[in-house]
Amino acid sequence: MGREKKTFVDSKGYVRFRDSGKGVHRWLAEKHILHRRLRQGEVVHHRDGNPLNNDLGNLQVMTADAHNELHERRSPGWGRRHGVSVPGVVSERALKTLIRWLLIGLLLSWLASQGG
Ligand SMILES: [Zn+2]
Repeated sequence: MGREKKTFVDSKGYVRFRDSGKGVHRWLAEKHILHRRLRQGEVVHHRDGNPLNNDLGNLQVMTADAHNELHERRSPGWGRRHGVSVPGVVSERALKTLIRWLLIGLLLSWLASQGG
């Protein structure tokens, strides 16, 4: 009589508990790294890219945004392939437009302060 395996590997390659369906990497991070529950928007990244490697040293808690950005940098198009937007990766043109608007805003408020 072998013991029932408590975990299984899901279609994306993550190890999950059979009973709760919770990702083992998330559970480990909560129990041994954070000592608290993961907050909304926090994800557990596998540093070596191997979701089967749940060594604590291979797990890194990050915000979803930072995580998406990291993967996008490593392999451009990752966000698109995973159906997530990557706010950290702003196109240069968008950045320049943003800076221009900020400067215009500053100028306008400076002009306003000079009036009267
Ligand atoms: Zn990751």
